[in-house]
Amino acid sequence: MPRRENPYAGMVDGLTDSQLMELSSAVAARRCRDDVGFGTFDEAAAAWKPDPRCPWCHHEHNHRDSSTPSGRPRWVCTECGRTYTALTGTVFEESKKDFATWSQFVRLMCYNAQLDLAAEVCGITHQTAFEWRHRVMATLGGYQKRIVLRDRCWIDEMYVEDSILKNTPGYRTMRGLSRNLICVSVAIDVHKNPVAAVCGHGKPSGKRIKDALSSHIAEGTTFLHDKERAHNPLIRAVKGTSIAYKADTKDPDYLEGMKMVNSLCAWVRRFIEGYVGMKPENLQEYLDWYVYLFRVKQADEKWPKIARVLRHLMLTDAHYRSSRKRKYPHTG
Ligand SMILES: [Zn+2]
Repeated sequence: MPRRENPYAGMVDGLTDSQLMELSSAVAARRCRDDVGFGTFDEAAAAWKPDPRCPWCHHEHNHRDSSTPSGRPRWVCTECGRTYTALTGTVFEESKKDFATWSQFVRLMCYNAQLDLAAEVCGITHQTAFEWRHRVMATLGGYQKRIVLRDRCWIDEMYVEDSILKNTPGYRTMRGLSRNLICVSVAIDVHKNPVAAVCGHGKPSGKRIKDALSSHIAEGTTFLHDKERAHNPLIRAVKGTSIAYKADTKDPDYLEGMKMVNSLCAWVRRFIEGYVGMKPENLQEYLDWYVYLFRVKQADEKWPKIARVLRHLMLTDAHYRSSRKRKYPHTG
């Protein structure tokens, strides 16, 4: 059978560089539309933010104005008089890259791709990739604050090496739970809601564990844990009940819970170790991202996760955050 020529090959060969860029961008928009439902910022905004509130004074239901020079719908606030588009105040506002590129970037972030790989694939610089990653993570800032575990809850601690201390002259690895390790309190309930919170350096006191977790756990929760005494102040604070780990291999909840908390620790560790050079002060931000992905993955059947993350970015006000002129360091 004769090999069929690709009818577009000849056309593409004849294009100039700028025409090829336009074609690539149109193809990317089309593929993005197939993947996440929308190919451009404006298509996504029309669905997710058909009547955006004022990004400055938060006044709702404002007048539709004429469009921007690029044809983007614009509103004028009836309260403060300022004009805005659906992108004003979001992380997309000043982006020179299109929706399809952001979609690609978020997809790579969902796989926890290395920054250099994300930069290469998306055609952006390492510095831009770094800023985008932090913008995505900053948008989810404090995401875990709203999570409250209930009913039956497994808790544990895990330890991460403090990379700053590791790079300090004179640092030497100490044995056991040294002060050079950052403690992360990990919890997961029977409904598979996870929490991962930074809990200071070294082995934590009861007060530190209580401070890290008490706002995340409902009153009257039953705790399953390893009999660590430092858990007691937390359990008392939420009027909980304690069941120390005592293997009951006939209890499917017990087996499932053990597996969940052990797996959660292993996954969080693998996730953190993938981010070379992460600064310890940013660890909570990364843990928030991890927990966000964990929960989004569970809802995946209902809503594809990339679209969900992009929607979150478009609906979240990053205006005041970015106007703080946060300094982005060169390492994570
Ligand atoms: Zn306003």
